[in-house]
Amino acid sequence: MQDRELYRQILGIEAPWLVERVELKLAEGEVHVYLEHREMASWPCPECGAGCQLYDHQEERRWRHLDTCQYQTILHARPPRTKCGEHGVRVAKLPWAEPSSRFTALMERLVIDWLRSASQKAVSEQLGLSWDEIHGIMERAVGRGLKRREAEPLPLLGVDEKAFRKGHKYFTLVNDLERSRVLYVGEDRTQASLDGFWGRLTEAQRASIQAVAMDMWDPYVASVMEYVPDGGKKIVYDKFHIAKHLGEAVDKVRRKENRTLRAAGDDRLTGTRYDWLRNPAAMEPADRRAFAELRRSGLKTARAWALKETAMALFSYQYERPAGKHFRWWHGWAVRSRLRPMLDVARTLKRRFENIITYLRHRVTNAASESINAKIQWVKYTARGFRNKENFKAAILFHCGGLDLAPS
Ligand SMILES: [Zn+2]
Repeated sequence: MQDRELYRQILGIEAPWLVERVELKLAEGEVHVYLEHREMASWPCPECGAGCQLYDHQEERRWRHLDTCQYQTILHARPPRTKCGEHGVRVAKLPWAEPSSRFTALMERLVIDWLRSASQKAVSEQLGLSWDEIHGIMERAVGRGLKRREAEPLPLLGVDEKAFRKGHKYFTLVNDLERSRVLYVGEDRTQASLDGFWGRLTEAQRASIQAVAMDMWDPYVASVMEYVPDGGKKIVYDKFHIAKHLGEAVDKVRRKENRTLRAAGDDRLTGTRYDWLRNPAAMEPADRRAFAELRRSGLKTARAWALKETAMALFSYQYERPAGKHFRWWHGWAVRSRLRPMLDVARTLKRRFENIITYLRHRVTNAASESINAKIQWVKYTARGFRNKENFKAAILFHCGGLDLAPS
């Protein structure tokens, strides 16, 4: 029959496999293609490749393929089993699909390509796939990619936490700051969350680590100290996290002072929260003038703000010794300021100083993860149907892991 030859060519079916028959189900919009194989003297064992005898056949299985002429196309075949002297009875490798998949390799490749740029919902609707099928394809793709990832050196790492949903469950992400990709996603933000990462590296990879940027978070510190050779010298507290802590302290000062002022009918500080967090250089000229006046006002908030800005000047130093001097002077000023929230941050920074000043040696921040963060926002947005944490983890690695996802 002609359609058998046509489908053999369209599907790229090669000997010993051939198309035995084609069934067109017009009403369902489906084409069913039944495959069979010729007699073969021997079949390669899927483990070792040794020529083996045919043992028997499994029950008929089906694989969804790329649509042909707008018909859903389904392949049917009974997978042969080989009997190897060493490995026993195994299912032979099939040229059109990976062992556990219900899709042909070409179909998986298409779904993977679509998922890269469209939401899971859109792909599911367009291709007529269930959520479970989509997640299965994603998870297999990520599994393949992780297996293929080479043991290359990882000099600059960033550890970051992400909330699954606002105020809900946390995840720990390890990012490769050089290549802007996510290497690992762990549940929660405990020491164990990060510990899980190091075991996946070779000893040479762990020795290749030069710096790990992170927030001042003791469970992560403990994990690095335990697993990274000379970890104590490699932790770099992220300067944007430090700026955030200082900004929060300024805001505490502002809120308290605002209450006092308003009680006396003075609302100068009301609604200015974000002015104290912004870079004045980025303000409109009129706003900048108004803000400059506030800063010169002698208010406690203005002093707290000056403390914050001066602390951040630390990061523009070239050398550690003058930077250390700057910090000691600043710390004294913060202590004398008698602004409680600023004093608290100053204490924290002093205690952590050894791993703040490491910035001058390594110059890394988690800002290199910004492009990753933007993608993760997109993942969250396009995957509102996440049923569980595993799906979310797989989706992050799928989109942000820089992995080779395609089936072989
Ligand atoms: Zn074998």
